[in-house]
Amino acid sequence: MGSDLAECKVCFRHCKIDEGKYGFCEVRTCKDGVVVPENFGRLTAIALDPIEKKPLNRFYPGSKILSVGSYGCNLRCPFCQNSDISWGDQVEFSKLEARYVSPEELAELAEELKSRGNIGVAFTYNEPLIFYEYVLDTAKLLKKNELKTVLVTNGMADVEIVGKLFSYVDAMNIDLKGFTDDYYEKLLKGNRKMVMNFIEKAVKHCHVELTTLIVPEENDSEEEMDALSQWIASLSPDIPLHISRFFPRFHMEEKDATEVDVIYRLKDIAKKHLHYVYTGNC
Ligand code: SF4
Repeated sequence: MGSDLAECKVCFRHCKIDEGKYGFCEVRTCKDGVVVPENFGRLTAIALDPIEKKPLNRFYPGSKILSVGSYGCNLRCPFCQNSDISWGDQVEFSKLEARYVSPEELAELAEELKSRGNIGVAFTYNEPLIFYEYVLDTAKLLKKNELKTVLVTNGMADVEIVGKLFSYVDAMNIDLKGFTDDYYEKLLKGNRKMVMNFIEKAVKHCHVELTTLIVPEENDSEEEMDALSQWIASLSPDIPLHISRFFPRFHMEEKDATEVDVIYRLKDIAKKHLHYVYTGNC
């Protein structure tokens, strides 16, 4: 019994997946007894974006980056801004519309776009670590061509598994969505410790900026921001933090947007510990 279940160890869930079935993230599947990302190279979005849109404010400012996304996610944030590709009813349509782009094709496209100011590829929109194999294959090709690899990620992955990416990734924006276990576990269905561990390792390898979305009455206290920014400063006070304003959407449409005053007050608190604090959506 259960001998043909394969275990995925990418994130804390350690999903046990039957042949042809999927893990919680809806992309990692069991094929011939091995866990693989069904969405390898299957892209739902592709755009040439300003690097500041990732957001990365202190990594090649003024440049552009070819930004790509697939589908699926290993979190369940009720305020997801990309719910049509990450999780929810619309994801099945995204899967059908996804277009296969091989690592070689993506690296070639990034090279062609150099003339338009492109510096590399950003894996963004949905969670890239759940198809880290595709990111890795592409990043190796980009490095050969002196192009950059960027991840925009929730950081909820085991560094023992995805750490092989670190030698190839040049920059990351990682969500540190809040600073209590309760918030991560109950609202987001995630694991804060795993994210913190990922951030600790990532800052040793590449340029890292962090983003915290402030949701009213969930993670908007001054005490929480003080603790969060103090912890970041313990890694380095030079790590940039983006404090971002929530807008009602997806399963949180009934909630009001975060007051702009709250964002600026929290920015002042973070500035007590960190050198670079930015506001988003204000
Ligand atoms: S990455 Fe996906 S399949 Fe793997 S443990 Fe996490 S949710 Fe499960």
